Amino acid sequence: MQIYNTLSRKKEEFVPINPGKVGIYVCGPTVYGLIHIGNARPMIVFDTLRRYFEYKGYEVNYVSNFTDVDDKIINRANQENVAASYISEKYIEECKKDMEALNVKPATVHPQATLEIPDMIEMIKVLIEKGHAYEKNGTVYFRTRSFKDYGKLSHKNIDELESGHRDEEHSLKVSGEDEKEDFLDFVLWKPKKEGEPYWESPWGDGRPGWHLECSVMSKKYIGGTIDIHAGGEDLIFPHHENEIAQSEAANDTTFARYWMHNGFLKINNEKMSKSLGNFKTVRDITAQYDPQIIRFFMLQAQYRGPLNFSDEPIESAKNGLERILTAAEKLRDIIAKDNPDSDKDTEFIAELPKFTEKFEAAMDDDLNTADAITAIFDLVRYVNTTCNEDSSKSSAAAAYELLEKLTGVLGIKIDKAEDSLDSEVEALIEERQAARKAKDFAKADEIRDKLLSMGIELKDTREGVKWKRI
Ligand code: AMP
Ligand code: ZN
Repeated sequence: MQIYNTLSRKKEEFVPINPGKVGIYVCGPTVYGLIHIGNARPMIVFDTLRRYFEYKGYEVNYVSNFTDVDDKIINRANQENVAASYISEKYIEECKKDMEALNVKPATVHPQATLEIPDMIEMIKVLIEKGHAYEKNGTVYFRTRSFKDYGKLSHKNIDELESGHRDEEHSLKVSGEDEKEDFLDFVLWKPKKEGEPYWESPWGDGRPGWHLECSVMSKKYIGGTIDIHAGGEDLIFPHHENEIAQSEAANDTTFARYWMHNGFLKINNEKMSKSLGNFKTVRDITAQYDPQIIRFFMLQAQYRGPLNFSDEPIESAKNGLERILTAAEKLRDIIAKDNPDSDKDTEFIAELPKFTEKFEAAMDDDLNTADAITAIFDLVRYVNTTCNEDSSKSSAAAAYELLEKLTGVLGIKIDKAEDSLDSEVEALIEERQAARKAKDFAKADEIRDKLLSMGIELKDTREGVKWKRI
C-alpha cells in the first residue's frame, strides 16, 4: 500500500515495523464541548484506514487520545462553575456517542492526558538530563535549537521561523513565557494558576504542555517508534513538529515512520468558526441526516484534499448511498426467493473479483476512498443490470457478500439496521396493515402521516410494505 508521507512529501510503500502488525496514533479532540463536523473528518478517515488494514489481515493497535486538560476546558468549567474534570468527562462520553453514530470503532486504547501525568514527568526529567529542556520559575521549556532536525515535518527552517517572529516580546509577556531562553522554545510543564487543576512535580505544582501528552501516550501504548501518526493538517506545525522534537530527543529513535494528515473541512466554502455563526456539531447534523450519509460524504473525497460541506454534496451523498442500499435490498429479496443454482452462476460469479481488484487498487493508492466508492458503484450497476427475480440464490448471495465486505471497509452498513427507530417503525407498519385489513382506512392514513412526520416514507410493493428514511 502506498501512503503519502508528510515527512517526505511523497507517496511511499507502507512497510510495517513488525510484519502483520500496525500501530496507529491519531491526535484526538480537546473535550470542552460537542465535537464539530470538522473533528469528524479525521475520525472517519483514519477509522477507515484502520478497517482497511484489518481487511488486509493486519493486527491493528489504534490509539487515539482525549486531551482532557487544557485552557479551553478550564474556561468552560469556570463559566459553568463546575470542576474541569466534570466538563472533560461529560464531553468524552458525548464524543463516544457521536463516534458510535458515525460507526467509528472505539480505539484499542483511548488514553486521557490526566491519567498519564507520572509518565509525562518522567519524560521531562529525561529531557532535562540530556540538556534538551530547562526549568525557569516552575515552567519547564524544551530547548528547541538543541534538536537539530527541528522543522523536518513542516519543512520550515529556523531562519524562516526567526523572520516570521514579530511582536513576540508582547505575546510572551501575556502568556507568561517571557523567561524562556529562545522564542522557539515551547512549554513542557506549566505552573498552576489559581483555580486550575494541578499535579505535583519536581518543578512545583502544575500541568503538562499539550504537545508532551501525545509523545508520552503514543510511546506508552504503541512504542518508541510508531508506524503511522495521523491528524488534521493544522496539527503539522507546531504540534507534530514539537512531538517529534521531544520524542526523538528523549528516546534517540525515529518517532513515527509515516505521517498522514487530513485536509480541512469547510462549510459553504468558509472556514467554520463560532464567530461566523456557521459552526456545526456532529449532533446538529445527525439530527438532520442519517449519520451514514455523513460518513459516505466524507469518504467520497480523497482525505488529503479540502472538503466543502454544503447541502448539494450531502444530497448527492444521500442519493449515492441510497443506490447502494437499494441494490443490497434487491439482493436480499432475491436471496429470500431461494431460486436454485443455474448455469449462469459461474459466469456471474467469475466477474466479481474485478470489483474487489479495483477497490483494493484505489485503497492501496493512499487510501483513495473516492475511487474505491466508484468500484462499489460499478458493482451496484453490475447487480442492477445482471440480477433479477429469477437469479439464483448462490449468485445473489455471492454479490451480497462482496458488497457487504467492501462497504464494510468503509464503515457503511448495508444490512437492515435494527436500531430502536426500526422496531418502532416496524410496529407502526404492522399496526397500519392491521387497520387496512379491518378497512379502517382513516386510521391507516393517520399512521402513514405519523411515519411521514418521523421522516419515514412507505412504499407498497409486491413484496410487501417497504420503508425508507427521507
Ligand atoms: P482539536 O479538538 O481542535 O484538537 O481537533 C481534533 C482533531 O480534529 C484534530 O486532528 C484536528 O486537526 C481535526 N480538525 C479540527 N478542525 C477540523 C476541520 N475543520 N476539518 C478537518 N479536521 C479538523
Ligand atoms: Zn497530538
